[in-house]
Amino acid sequence: MKRILLLGGVTEALAIARTLGPEHIYSLAGIGRVPTDLQCQVRVGGYGGAEGLAQFILDEGVELLLDATHPYAAQISQNAATAARASAIPCWALRRLAWQPQAGDDWREVGDWSELIEALKPFKRPLFTLGREPLQHLHEIPPEQFWTLRALDAYPGNERCEVIGARGPFLIDDERELFERRQIDVLISKNSGSTATEPKLEVARERGVPVLVLKRPVLPGVDRELLSCKETLAALAEFLQ
Ligand code: NAP
Repeated sequence: MKRILLLGGVTEALAIARTLGPEHIYSLAGIGRVPTDLQCQVRVGGYGGAEGLAQFILDEGVELLLDATHPYAAQISQNAATAARASAIPCWALRRLAWQPQAGDDWREVGDWSELIEALKPFKRPLFTLGREPLQHLHEIPPEQFWTLRALDAYPGNERCEVIGARGPFLIDDERELFERRQIDVLISKNSGSTATEPKLEVARERGVPVLVLKRPVLPGVDRELLSCKETLAALAEFLQ
């Protein structure tokens, strides 16, 4: 019986994990919620780099590695490609298409934190939707700025920053209310390509709010790239035949 190791971390990965039988393994870093209602095995925590992952593949007799991690989780994707190559098994990756700017959008791409801070200078009320990274910079908020920071969990903010803990999917009306309440004048986002977090872009468009988009990391080449959950499930069904 063929065994798949599915590296998760995004909604589509969980949807795929729900279709896998008990011989397969669903692997999570352990940052988000760990599901307890799956038929497949669930493994939580890192492997200790590509070598550790290759050892796990060998020990567990894994025959296909499916990378369904977040497009900005570049380290684990690199480890997956390296470990699969070292183990002589195929590595497939579910790679969501990036969002594309639409008419009325004002998107400005930034490469890293220092470029982002520079691009933020003309603005006063940014909304950060990058996860936890901005928390390290709360003491650097310029005197004219008031930040709003949304992450998966709530953390203490300060007098110049409100931190909101919330998990998608986000509804457009709630996003409208947030932009209005906090008087957001610039949105900072990764380009995750997820429908669950897309409404904020729609609200930015409606309100003429610019978006600073963090560049996608370069991901390694894999044996097969899949663009959607549906395509991945069809490919897996064929592989498992
Ligand atoms: P990362 O920088 O690529 O990975 C850091 C380390 O975490 C990896 O080297 C690996 O540790 C471990 N790891 C990551 N994903 C794993 C998995 N599925 N199973 C077991 N170990 C895993 O990733 P990240 O950006 O910190 O993200 C961590 C997890 O959160 C990923 O699974 C990702 O899909 C999910 N996530 C990330 C984002 C984001 O914006 N980055 C957003 C939503 C969800 P070892 O080297 O020890 O094996």
